[in-house]
Amino acid sequence: MLAQPVSTNALAGYRRLTVKIGSALLVDQESGTLRDEWLAALAKDIAALKARGVDVVIVSSGAIALGRRLLGLKGVSLPLEKSQAAASAGQIALSQAWASHLGAHGLVTGQILLTPNITEERRYFLNARTTIATLLGLGAIPIINENDSVATSEIRYGDNDRLSARVATMIEADALILLSDIDGLYTAPPARDPDARHVGLVEEITPAIEAMAGGAASHLSRGGMTTKIEAGKIATKAGTAMLIAKGTGAHPIAALETGARHTLFAPAQGTTAARKRWILGTLEIEGRMVIDAGAARALLEGRSLLPIGVTEVSGRFERGDPVAILGPDGREIARGLAGLDRAAADLVKGKKSDAVRALLGADTRTEMVHRDNLVLV
Ligand code: GLU
Repeated sequence: MLAQPVSTNALAGYRRLTVKIGSALLVDQESGTLRDEWLAALAKDIAALKARGVDVVIVSSGAIALGRRLLGLKGVSLPLEKSQAAASAGQIALSQAWASHLGAHGLVTGQILLTPNITEERRYFLNARTTIATLLGLGAIPIINENDSVATSEIRYGDNDRLSARVATMIEADALILLSDIDGLYTAPPARDPDARHVGLVEEITPAIEAMAGGAASHLSRGGMTTKIEAGKIATKAGTAMLIAKGTGAHPIAALETGARHTLFAPAQGTTAARKRWILGTLEIEGRMVIDAGAARALLEGRSLLPIGVTEVSGRFERGDPVAILGPDGREIARGLAGLDRAAADLVKGKKSDAVRALLGADTRTEMVHRDNLVLV
């Protein structure tokens, strides 16, 4: 039996969060009405964050989806002028919903509608940022959306994934949470590829990561995985972490605090700390390594786990997968990301670094688990 991880809270340590909520979560896809019970549960999660002193900024979609029903507009895609009219009517309903659900917890909301010229032109940017910061300072919750009813097609985000990333970086949020209908990034779109594997941690958005994203998801939300990856680039470059989590069930924020699966995109600065937090929070251990007393001492001193200290390897893991590290008595003492895959780990366990290089090649990394990827539990 593995010891329980010390913490499974994916949000531990964050003081300022931007939470983006997609239309497909807020609005029932069949009836076009607001998912009231779901929103009530989410408002409770947000109130709990506020009670802990966390600043929260919401980027909420749903105006167009709600407005379509209010104005009786049918059809999968609407001409621009009708979707702008829908946004205009729907935004009122959306703001009212947030004001009443958060108001039930004594929280005041403030609405801000943005377009790229506001977020990108310095004079407007500084002003919008000050307004958001002032609302936060007053204990209120800014509710942000794109100003869809007047935005022109040339000057428009069009998706709230990228808009929310820009907002998160504007206010220097620690993290941006994208609540979605999927629990993160997969190696391929899971609807198309049954072998797609969930990706827990993205340290850097490489072309390989971009290739994993497919097209847009549902007819209500504009953003698919592609715009989420674009959002990830905006956020992580500016030092804001991004999490993609499934929001369809009740209490999605509380779920993240108790171990719900998600994908973390580590910020470009401070990647080590973010990575360690993620390792500690991860529940899915793909393998185990038993180590000797000498190696256990080295780990306690903050050093890497080298092959020579490993006596047993089990499980099926690739390089980068989470593994549990057990002391000689079988108790879990650390968690880390494997530096070698299972086959290579088997081959080199118990061997000195020279022998490891002779087996795996001169330019190989010789750590079983590098210290940057290792957390004591
Ligand atoms: N701003 C749009 C709305 O409120 C949604 C854009 C999106 O789904 O990303 O309806």
